[in-house]
Amino acid sequence: MNIQSHKKQVLNTNLATVRHGLVKSTFGNVSVINRAQDRLVIKPSGVPYDELTVDNMVVTDLAGLPIPDHQSNRNPSSDLATHVVLYAAFENINTVIHTHSTYATIFAQMQRPIPALGTTHADYFRGPVPITRALEDDEIGDDYVAQTGRVIVETFENISSDEIPAVLVAGHGPFVWGPTPEDALMNALMLEEAAKLAWHVEMMVPDAQPISQSLLDVHYFRKHGRSATYGQANRGTET
Ligand SMILES: [Zn+2]
Repeated sequence: MNIQSHKKQVLNTNLATVRHGLVKSTFGNVSVINRAQDRLVIKPSGVPYDELTVDNMVVTDLAGLPIPDHQSNRNPSSDLATHVVLYAAFENINTVIHTHSTYATIFAQMQRPIPALGTTHADYFRGPVPITRALEDDEIGDDYVAQTGRVIVETFENISSDEIPAVLVAGHGPFVWGPTPEDALMNALMLEEAAKLAWHVEMMVPDAQPISQSLLDVHYFRKHGRSATYGQANRGTET
């Protein structure tokens, strides 16, 4: 896929986050990478969503350094360095979405993971969605945006970023990812839905318990992995 097509993906996915109510004002950003071509495309910083165009999407290399001849003269999203760190650490992801979607951000501000209380959650996340530790003062003072990426990677030391494609940054909000823009957008939508459900369940039953690992796995693996059976794509075939 060429860079122009990636710019369209980034524009459309950014607009979709607004359309689905995940992003208000400019509190969000989407990027897409092409590992083979060493290119990253991301939303420009601080541009209102109704002024975004294909041509003002910003192109960098995978280190986040600007590409001199790209068309946009905009600065990249201020969260670019977080995206760069995530792409370097999580080798199967090609899209990162950041939002301040309401219920996921409530859990981030409570500094609590989102527990896997039901199968809506289990269809997309094979376990609780983790919360990062809070950044230290010196980490906030020095290279804050990249440190945010590093503390996410630290959180996933013993967690699969493929099986749990989302994280809550303490006191901030969610970062979500996937192999494609469509996957990442669906993960962002379902993260918000899982957080909304968990919030309301815990309002009524403060000590609500997570579903069992076996129920979690049945739901997760019927949509993911080699033996996925959900939907129509694999009907009649073994994949
Ligand atoms: Zn943010």
